[in-house]
Amino acid sequence: MPEICEICGNPVRGPVSTIQVDGGIFRVCPTCSRLGKPIKMPGDAQPAPPIRSSPPPRSDTRYEEPELELRPDYYTVIKNTREKMGLSQEDLGKKLNEKLSVVKHLETGKLKPDNILTRKLEHFFKVKLLVPEDEDIEE
Ligand SMILES: [Zn+2]
Repeated sequence: MPEICEICGNPVRGPVSTIQVDGGIFRVCPTCSRLGKPIKMPGDAQPAPPIRSSPPPRSDTRYEEPELELRPDYYTVIKNTREKMGLSQEDLGKKLNEKLSVVKHLETGKLKPDNILTRKLEHFFKVKLLVPEDEDIEE
């Protein structure tokens, strides 16, 4: 025996829909289901939610980081920039949390900063110490 549509009172031919009209919940025929907002009742067959897959990153736009190397005049840059900032070698050592001897050796070119120290120097001085290979440095 078919269910009776709660709106039009006719036997429901087809799937029974549950809709909301003016705050009331009605079980209705397909025709009347357009009169209200369809709601999901527990027990109703729920369509599987669409699987939203984010598009994979486009490989062709991937940025290839150029090979970087320490610029050959890094010690001049360090020394000049430090002096411009009015810092002594000792001050710089404290700022960078490095020993005074490290700063001295850096500025004479006897010590090449490792990656971490280079990044620290770049950040502190707001200068680029790593340059792409083969790039001409113009003063
Ligand atoms: Zn109806």
